[in-house]
Amino acid sequence: MVVPLLYAIFFRAMRTDSMKKWLALLAFWGVCSPNTLLADWFWGNASIMGTNIEVQVWADNKAHGDAAIETVFTQMEAVNQLMSPYIETSQLAMLNREAALHPVKVDTALFELIEKANTFSAMSHGAFDITFASVGFMYDYRNHAKPDQDRIDKQLNAVNYRHIALNNEENTVFFNHPDVKVDLGGIGKGYAVDKSIEALIAMGIEHALVTAGGDTRLLGDRRGRPWVVGIRDPRNEDKQAVRLPLESIAISTSGDYERYFEEDGNRYHHILSPKTGKSAYEVQSVSIIGPSSTINDALSTTVFVLGVVDGINLINTLPDYEAIILDNERKLHYSAGLTQ
Ligand code: ADP
Ligand code: MG
Repeated sequence: MVVPLLYAIFFRAMRTDSMKKWLALLAFWGVCSPNTLLADWFWGNASIMGTNIEVQVWADNKAHGDAAIETVFTQMEAVNQLMSPYIETSQLAMLNREAALHPVKVDTALFELIEKANTFSAMSHGAFDITFASVGFMYDYRNHAKPDQDRIDKQLNAVNYRHIALNNEENTVFFNHPDVKVDLGGIGKGYAVDKSIEALIAMGIEHALVTAGGDTRLLGDRRGRPWVVGIRDPRNEDKQAVRLPLESIAISTSGDYERYFEEDGNRYHHILSPKTGKSAYEVQSVSIIGPSSTINDALSTTVFVLGVVDGINLINTLPDYEAIILDNERKLHYSAGLTQ
């Protein structure tokens, strides 16, 4: 509709004097160049939530593509502002300051995510536990800092999701232990990816990829072909251990290479066993494939802590979810749905 109209205006202008002719030519080129008027793939990158965000969308024109990418960044930033432990004004930071003193009212989104996190804690007998942060805050991977055994022992009682009392009539959160701290790093990025994909669907987008760190969700296919998602080799950044053709699904990977430091031959990384307050060591990486990025994210952290046998057993009870695990001897393990 727009293009024939532009053609008509353009050819009319070509019959007028030369100045107008050139202006019309320029305007015509600006509006009609493939970048602006044609359906195409559009890409976006940003650094939000302390991680790399990547977006690819197929959109009708550049304006629509740019708006879609901006929408994703807005969703991610909203989750960051609500749930970052590092932003003083976030509701999560407020919980860590006040919820051991009195019940704290939070937004429904945060309340429901904490509720969901706790269902994974119950399901995994505490392997996934957002109160891991009661010990976790004493680690500083960038500065190679870790607590000694004494400090871990003192704090370890605070690590227990049962200390979180949720009142779903009031939307309040209360910690019934004075030292409890929470962190949603094991589920928040997956949640932000789901929110982003929902927003893209609402804009009429049908083909997209949204990645936040290790969490990726794919909307549709790559127009006639599947997306190809790689799982990186945990010990070689430039190599992929597995490559998977996927569409209309999500995949999350948790690895011991994201945030870590090495000391005396030990690797201290960011996924902690709530039982010991130390890094889980049985596997190097876990990828979970399933429809919800939020659930994949929580499950990848959960299975990382559970290890191969308990992890695969748990995934085999969940019909829509599959796992690929690379253990600490670099052997690959697959859940039942992938071995068939
Ligand atoms: P990332 O994409 O940041 O690597 P992962 O899904 O691999 O995230 O989860 C790691 C993050 O989960 C950690 O940085 C920490 O915030 C959080 N975490 C660590 N141990 C646990 C645990 N046992 N239960 C819940 N969350 C955890
Ligand atoms: Mg996770």
